[in-house]
Amino acid sequence: MLVEPRKCIAKMAGYTPGEQPARSETVIKLNTNENPYPPSPCVLEIFRNVEADDLRRYPDPAANAFRDAAAQLYGLKREQIIAGNGSDDILNIALRAYLDPGQILAYPDPTYSLYPVLASIQDAKVAPVAWEPGWKLPVEGLLATRARVIFVAHPNAPTGTPVALAELRALATRFDGLLLVDEAYVELADESALTLLATHENVLISRTLSKSYSLAGLRFGYGLGHASIIAELMKVKDSYNCDALSISAAVAALQDQDYARSVWAKIRSERERLQVELMKRGWDVIPSQANFVFARPPSGDAAAVYANLKSHGIFVRFFNTPGLTERVRITVGTPAETDALLAALDG
Ligand SMILES: *Cc1c(COP(=O)(O)O)cnc(C)c1O
Repeated sequence: MLVEPRKCIAKMAGYTPGEQPARSETVIKLNTNENPYPPSPCVLEIFRNVEADDLRRYPDPAANAFRDAAAQLYGLKREQIIAGNGSDDILNIALRAYLDPGQILAYPDPTYSLYPVLASIQDAKVAPVAWEPGWKLPVEGLLATRARVIFVAHPNAPTGTPVALAELRALATRFDGLLLVDEAYVELADESALTLLATHENVLISRTLSKSYSLAGLRFGYGLGHASIIAELMKVKDSYNCDALSISAAVAALQDQDYARSVWAKIRSERERLQVELMKRGWDVIPSQANFVFARPPSGDAAAVYANLKSHGIFVRFFNTPGLTERVRITVGTPAETDALLAALDG
């Protein structure tokens, strides 16, 4: 007999991830903001040296080796850090801990399309609030929603736009709920909200190794916040939410800052080139502080551009969502990948 799921699950749509072509397909993949460079060699070393016991035993449920590495890097205490199975896990844990059914998750709109999905799973409501002109944070609008939790992606996706620290501070000061700043791309931006942690107990920052550390396949993210928030999140997370190898690999990645910084420098400079080249071709480009560019082709027919690029084996992201259909989101790749993209556009 068919069993009915919870009502909120039956009526929700589920998240639509970007296409992941089979590994055998030779495509240029600029559609899911993966990093085009390999992870630090120190990470690959971890996997070369796996021993049977690493797999036989349960991992450290708290991932303390990672928490200590992150604490040292950011000048925080271990108790201010939680590790997750990707930062999506951190977002989910935060809502499970702080949002009751019927309560409101607010966020500036458009943004990461996973947020409403996670709220639906909690049978919570969402309040999308339009960005103010110039992609400024709609502080008043967000506060007016009476939300319990506010998510702000900084830099935002799919626009790549940063949020001014002063605006985040103003929001955190006046908000009596949990403010989660999703910093999935912050290593490529000019500034982070990290400094708010010293002054605002209601701020939680989520980070990921998927983008800046070239480890999307590893599934490792983390949250930074006040020790009392982290303690609540630790109660809610799956007991072994990070596997033993991912914890070791994440430590290795975080500790190789020299390598990471060299990759970020390459992506920043290629981002500038991509933006300039698109503008030369008449595209409207929103200046990005992430590893992607959200841009409108001269025709405004983003669906056609997407399809044309796909026929050349180049994947970019097209959002068939009201308000977003005139632009494509292009991940910053290697210089050779940019060249191929531009050749296909010119062809
Ligand atoms: C990619 C992304 C994430 C999450 O990535 P994980 O792979 O789950 O760590 C979170 N937020 C935004 C805005 C993203 O683009």
